[in-house]
Amino acid sequence: MSAEQPSLTRRHFLEQSSAAALGAAWVAHTAQAPGASAEMRYRRFGKTELKVSEIGLGCATGLKSRMLGPEGFNRYREELPAILHKLLDLGGNFVATGRGYHDTEEILGNAMKGRRQDVIIFTAPDPPRDDVPTIIQCCEESLGHFHTDCIDCYFSHGRWSEAFYEAALQLRQQGKIRFIGLSSHVPAEHRACVEAGKLDFVFQPYNYMALAKWTEKFDRNDVEGLFAYCKQQDVGVISMKPMTGHFVPNWAKDRSNPLVAKLLAQLQQFGAEHLYQALLMWVLKNPNVCCAAVGMSTVAEAVEDCAAVGRRLAQRHEELLELYAEAATGDYCRMCETCIPSCPAGIRIPDVMRYRMYYKNYGHCDDARELYAAVPAERRVTACTECGACQQACPNGLAIIDKLREAHRLLA
Ligand code: SF4
Ligand code: SF4
Repeated sequence: MSAEQPSLTRRHFLEQSSAAALGAAWVAHTAQAPGASAEMRYRRFGKTELKVSEIGLGCATGLKSRMLGPEGFNRYREELPAILHKLLDLGGNFVATGRGYHDTEEILGNAMKGRRQDVIIFTAPDPPRDDVPTIIQCCEESLGHFHTDCIDCYFSHGRWSEAFYEAALQLRQQGKIRFIGLSSHVPAEHRACVEAGKLDFVFQPYNYMALAKWTEKFDRNDVEGLFAYCKQQDVGVISMKPMTGHFVPNWAKDRSNPLVAKLLAQLQQFGAEHLYQALLMWVLKNPNVCCAAVGMSTVAEAVEDCAAVGRRLAQRHEELLELYAEAATGDYCRMCETCIPSCPAGIRIPDVMRYRMYYKNYGHCDDARELYAAVPAERRVTACTECGACQQACPNGLAIIDKLREAHRLLA
């Protein structure tokens, strides 16, 4: 695919796939998929005693602003209230966002007027902050954006911060937040905070790609072990990136890849039981996961996602997931951070890989460039000596050097 192509929504992806490879029968099946929706289900969210819907709204799509340009972003901004209302109508009951996701707090806050009691709010002082007054000020601003006097679930986003914890304790004492959490890509970071008794909930990336059988060297027990430990400690678990971080639509533009062509043929055979729902079904079959925060760009996607609730993952879905992962795994960084200590140049490899993902897979080109521009020169890809140590360390066998080179070309 051309790196400059804009990202696709999942719906567009399906429509394009239909037109290009799948035929009219697939269109009909896809159109019928939402009709298969079961009723929303709820799970106990650990010690919070909240009952969270299995599917809720994640707002990373808010990062798209500049990539889409004012018109495209305004379309998303205009649709977000309708997405929220549809989700609530279908029984969904939580939204997860952060101060860093542009003005999604304000949009959602306005959209939930009159329905505040139906929504569990998760938000964060994003990016992570290390001083208590700033974090308290961020929370006060979030309260204003949501037109509420209490944020249900407040979390440190991306990494732990003791200043966040100190601020969160003060805010909780003042009744301005109820529960404290952490979102991190690294299970060990979650575990340390749970062990210290600081968390009510965690956001952990969890999807079929993270645990696929061909990543045998990946420490599977780490994530599963974290979830079991959270269960034991009565800490709520949210799956973030349940669909692998919107990887599919842009990756699937490369139809010259025979594995992609094979996957599209499988989608045609499966009809309405398509890949995105299979990804959600796979996550939700884990009883130690309470819910999935799902990025939704359109009302149709909200309907499509909720239709995955209550459905059983069949053998044919497993095959579809395996085929997808087989095609995608060589390009997919799990952001496990295993490679970081191996790099003598101190390059923050997972960060660069993440910015590359924002650019190529999310289509958030300007956001990605801005993030990369903020990396100190001595930590950028230009400092790489191509020693290969990171590739030796990577449990997922990624060709890191090539990907870093590509990232620099796209982002610098
Ligand atoms: S490049 Fe490999 S080792 Fe490094 S974060 Fe990604 S998956 Fe983990
Ligand atoms: S190849 Fe480059 S990024 Fe990888 S460990 Fe060596 S210097 Fe670091």
